[in-house]
Amino acid sequence: MMRARTQRPCRKRGVRGQMALGFGLFALVTVALLWVFQIFLLGPFYRAIKTAEAKTISQALVRQLDSPDLESQAKDLVVRTGANVFVSDERGRQYVGYGYPFKDSLVYGMTSRELCELFNQVNLRGGLYTRMFDSRLPGGSGMELLFYAVTVRTDSGNDRLVVIETEVTPLASTVETLTVQLLCLTLVLLPFGVFLAVYIPRRVAKPLTEMNESAKGLARGDYSVRFEERGAREVSELAATLNFAAGELSKTEGLRRELLANVSHDLRTPLTMIKGYAEVMRDLPGENTPENVQIIIDEAGRLNDLVNDLLDLSRLEAGVIQLEPARFNLTESVREILGRYQRLRDYSFPFGAEEDVYVVADQLKISQVVYNLVNNAVNYAGEDKTVSLRQEVRGDRVRVSVSDTGEGIPADKLQDIWDRYYKVDQEHRRTQVGTGLGLSIVKNVLDLHGGSYGVISELGRGSTFWFELDMAPKEP
Ligand code: ADP
Repeated sequence: MMRARTQRPCRKRGVRGQMALGFGLFALVTVALLWVFQIFLLGPFYRAIKTAEAKTISQALVRQLDSPDLESQAKDLVVRTGANVFVSDERGRQYVGYGYPFKDSLVYGMTSRELCELFNQVNLRGGLYTRMFDSRLPGGSGMELLFYAVTVRTDSGNDRLVVIETEVTPLASTVETLTVQLLCLTLVLLPFGVFLAVYIPRRVAKPLTEMNESAKGLARGDYSVRFEERGAREVSELAATLNFAAGELSKTEGLRRELLANVSHDLRTPLTMIKGYAEVMRDLPGENTPENVQIIIDEAGRLNDLVNDLLDLSRLEAGVIQLEPARFNLTESVREILGRYQRLRDYSFPFGAEEDVYVVADQLKISQVVYNLVNNAVNYAGEDKTVSLRQEVRGDRVRVSVSDTGEGIPADKLQDIWDRYYKVDQEHRRTQVGTGLGLSIVKNVLDLHGGSYGVISELGRGSTFWFELDMAPKEP
């Protein structure tokens, strides 16, 4: 019996809280990052990119310093990049100089002495000098300039000063536009984030919350709870699974109760009989007859069967049974089992088999399968008291079927009869000895053997139970 555990109130944050927090944080972080990158870091980024560009140009130029077509290479660079390039020697004598446009240039306005000083200054700094030059030269365009200078000694031993000047568009107006844009964006994004943080978690969490309540009911042993199959796919799938589980639990619980009632009844009846007859035989010497002894033996046999069934099934289901497969004659084995029914004189057991068939299986267990099926057929047999068996070879498999002409099984019960403890006729009839375990044992044994099984039944006309096993070759 499933016992409901006392549920301690959980102090953890719920799905809704977690999701709301997540969405809220996400919106905040997104807005914050947008501000930082677009406004505060835009300038430094832009300058860093420009500096890297100047560095690439200077490196291209430095590689050509000793080349005879330095001039054309320099022109080419100017045309391609729009930067001013300038090369002088260590004394400030201009060596190569191109630029477009020249008007804002700083380096072109320098005298030889200033260039010479610049050379020394750059050298002092380890050969590299960068500066943002915010000159608004008279008549200039008012652009910022990036002044990038390097000193190098060429392979042929000449000292050179290489200067690259590129225009840096002032960012102030861009940043202003972006700020307004970002403000608008923030005003839209934050309320939207709040809306999402409230709405989505509610939508997602609602079915979960309801399911949680129902599940608590289930834990308390209320198997009638229903889980609403709606919401997101996973959630509705979970609900469907829980509904299925609840259904199965309730079925098992019902069967368990019934079994307990049946088993105690089944145990008590033979015990009462045994005790009663034994007492009569003890007290009344005349009653000590072979018939009475036989009744005691029969009743003890019933008890034995019941206990064996219960043990077998629990072992099969626990998976502790080790099969002992061996090659044996299935046809012969069926004949042998039918032989044991000889004492039921008013029943007939016709068996149709065209040839003897061998299988590799656990003989004892397969005999039990045949025995259970024949037993059921005898118990539920019709007026003609005939239980017919057939053996057919189908490809490389053999099928054994057991038919009776009894009352049959309703179509909607055909699935359930294989469940343990299940009985179509819930009313307990002593003439129909049974615990509802026989078919469950059949099913378990055949599953272990990789066999197949089934039933065809028609109400009022009878049932045919069958099972199939792989055949073994005729010769061992
Ligand atoms: P039981 O011990 O009650 O026979 P089983 O597991 O063997 O248990 O069978 C389960 C139920 O299936 C039976 O209670 C009965 O209602 C039904 N059943 C089994 N075999 C037959 C049959 N040959 N004819 C009609 N009903 C059958």
